[in-house]
Amino acid sequence: MSVIGIDFGNEGCYVAAARSGGIETLANDYSLRATPSFVAFDGKKRIIGVAAKNQQVTNMKNTVGGFKRLLGRKFNDPHVQHELTSIPARVEARGDGSIGIKVNYLEEDQHFGPEQLTAMLFTKLKETSAAAMQTQVNDCVIACPVFFTNAERRALLDAAQIAGLNVLRLMNETTATALAYGFYKNDLFEDKPRNVIFVDFGHSSLQASACAFTKGKLKMLASTWDQIGGRDIDLALGDYFAKEFQERYKINAKTNARANLRLLTEIEKLKKQMSANSTKLPLNIECFLDDIDVSSSMQRSQMEELCAPVLERVEQTFKRLLAESKLQLDDIHSVEIVGGSSRIPSVKQLIEQVFNKPASTTLNQDEAVSRGAALQCAIMSPAVRVREFGVTDLQNYAVKVLWDSEGSAAPGEIEIFPQFHASPFSRLLTINRKGPFNVSIVYGQQVPYPDQTIGVWKVKDVKPTERGEGQDVKLKVRINNNGIVLISSATLVEKKEAEEAAAAAEQAASEEKPGEQANNTGEPTDGQQEGADKKKKPSKATELPLECTTHGFSPVDLGNYTQQEVKMIGNDQKETERIDAKNALEEFVYDMRNKLQGGPLERFVVETEREAIVAQLNDLENWLYEDGEDCERETYTSRLQSLHQKTDPIKLRASDYEQGPAAFDELKNSI
Ligand code: ATP
Ligand code: MG
Repeated sequence: MSVIGIDFGNEGCYVAAARSGGIETLANDYSLRATPSFVAFDGKKRIIGVAAKNQQVTNMKNTVGGFKRLLGRKFNDPHVQHELTSIPARVEARGDGSIGIKVNYLEEDQHFGPEQLTAMLFTKLKETSAAAMQTQVNDCVIACPVFFTNAERRALLDAAQIAGLNVLRLMNETTATALAYGFYKNDLFEDKPRNVIFVDFGHSSLQASACAFTKGKLKMLASTWDQIGGRDIDLALGDYFAKEFQERYKINAKTNARANLRLLTEIEKLKKQMSANSTKLPLNIECFLDDIDVSSSMQRSQMEELCAPVLERVEQTFKRLLAESKLQLDDIHSVEIVGGSSRIPSVKQLIEQVFNKPASTTLNQDEAVSRGAALQCAIMSPAVRVREFGVTDLQNYAVKVLWDSEGSAAPGEIEIFPQFHASPFSRLLTINRKGPFNVSIVYGQQVPYPDQTIGVWKVKDVKPTERGEGQDVKLKVRINNNGIVLISSATLVEKKEAEEAAAAAEQAASEEKPGEQANNTGEPTDGQQEGADKKKKPSKATELPLECTTHGFSPVDLGNYTQQEVKMIGNDQKETERIDAKNALEEFVYDMRNKLQGGPLERFVVETEREAIVAQLNDLENWLYEDGEDCERETYTSRLQSLHQKTDPIKLRASDYEQGPAAFDELKNSI
C-alpha cells in the first residue's frame, strides 16, 4: 500500500511517497526525480516523460507539453490561444468547443484533450511509484496552483480519475510547500504564530503565499500570483537572440519551429548558468539554420535588463502579498523560496527588497511541493500512520451565491465567502420559497477564467405550506477539500420549526462551521448536519433533491475516457512486451554465436551441426533487420523457442561436463 503526493508542474512533475521512515521523492525509469510533463506518440505506442522530451526535436508534431494550463478550457478561450503559440503540436476545436490536440498515433490521426494528456502523464507517475515502491498506489494528493478556478480543479480531478488515481485532496501548491516546511518544525508555539512567506516561481507561474504556523497547525493567510514564469524569461531572451541572428547571419529562427525549439533549449541552459555566474557566458549552436553555426554571448546584467518587465511583475506580486496578508515586515519570520526560477539572483534580491529578509532555502526547491502533498496524503490516508498536522487552506477568490426571484420575492445575492476565506468550510444559507428554484454560485471578483460561474443548482421538490406560504430551505454551501465550491445539501425546514429558528436564520449566511479536516473522501458527505448545527436544527427537516450543472466531464464521458486510457495502457504494455521479445531474440543470437564460434560451447557440438546452427543464427540476424523488424511478439518468441530446442542440448552437455569433466572424457573416449 502506498500513498503519494504529486507536483504536476507545467514543465515537470515530481512524485513523493510517504513511508513509515519518512517522505521520499521517487526516481523514474531514467533514475531522475523530475519527469517532464510531456507526452508523445508514434505508430506503435505512447512515449511519456523523459523519453518524450528527449525525442521532441525529431517528432515535434506528435510531442505535446504545456497542457497543464489548458485544463478545463475551451479552444476559443483567449488564454488558450495565447498558450498555443508555444505548443508546436496541431490543436483544433472539437465539436463541443473543447480543445483537441491532434497527433498521429497507431498510424492514424487522433485527438486528445488536455485532461486525457494529463491522465496519460498520471499513468506514468503511477507506474513510477509502483516500480519504486514495489506496490500499487492507493491514495494520492495532487498539488495545483492556488489560482486554479473551479473548472480547472474539476478538470484535474477528471484527469486523475481517468488515470485511476484516488485523490484525497487537491492542495494548493504553496500550501503543500508550507506543510513540508512546518511538519518537521518542533519549535512552533501554540499562542504565538510564526508567519512565513512562501514563494514558488516555476515555469509558467509565480505564487506567493503567507502562512501562520502554530504548534501542530498551519493556516494560509493570503496568496498572490501572476502567470509569469521561467518560460517568459526564455522567450524574452529568445526574441533578443533571434533578432541578433537575423542581423548577423540573415536567418530567421522564428520561422522554423525546430530551430526555435533548439534556440530556447540552449537559452534555458544559458539562463541557468547565469544564475550561478555573473560573467559573460557563450551561446553556440551548430548547424542552426541553413547549415549556419551561430554564436553569441550574454551576461546576467543584460538578461536582467531584457527581463525587466517580468521582474517588475514579480516585484508587484510580492508587494501585493504584503498588502493582502496585512502583515507588517516585523511580523514575518522568514521568506522560503521554491520552484526552479526562484534560483535567479534578481528574484532573491527583490524578495530582500520587498520583505526586508534574505530569501531562505530551507526546503528542497524542486521537491518541496510533492513532499508536502505526500505528507498531506499520509495524514489523510488510513494506509500509513503519521502524526496529525492541521492544514487550513484558503479559497483564493471571493464567492457569491445568487438565487432567482419567485412571485413577489425578489432575486437575491450574498457574498458567501470573501477572498482568502478558510478552506475547507461550510456555511448555511436560508432562503424562503414556495416552489423549486435555482441557485447559482459565481466568483465575486475577476478570475483568470472566461466564465465567472462555478455552477447552477436546481433545488427541487420545494412546496408551499398548507396555507400557501413559503418555507425555509437551508442550503449548505461548502468549499470542499479540493477547493471546489458547491451546494452539498438542501433541506426543507417545516414552517412551525422554522419560526423557532428564525432568529438564527435571519441573516442569509447564518451559521459557520470550521472545515472538516479529517474528511477522507475529498468530497463532503451530502446532507449530514454536524456539530453545533444539531442542537439548533428543527426536529423535522426534509432533504431536497439537487440537480447541478457545473464544469467537468459527464459520467458517461469520464467512463469512455477511462476505458480509452485502459486500452492505451494495454496497448503500451503489449508493445513493450513485443520489443522485449525482439530484444531477447537478438541478444540470444549474438550471445549463442559468440559461444559457438571460439567460445565455451564450441567443443560440445559436432562441426556440421555447429555450422548449421551458426548459419541459422546469421539468417536470423539478417531477418531481424529486414522482414523481421516489425513482427508480433509471438513470432519472436517462437523463433527463440526453436533456437532453444537446438542449443539447449549443447548447453546441457557443457554443464554436465562442468559438473564432472572426468566422466565426460570417459564418455567421449568410449564413443
Ligand atoms: P509551474 O510551477 O509553473 O507549473 P514547474 O513546477 O514545472 O512549473 P519548476 O520545475 O519549479 O516549474 O521550474 C522550472 C523553471 O525553472 C524552468 O523555467 C527552468 O528554466 C527554471 N530554472 C530551473 N533552474 C534554474 C536556474 N538555476 N536558474 C534559473 N532558472 C531555473
Ligand atoms: Mg511548480
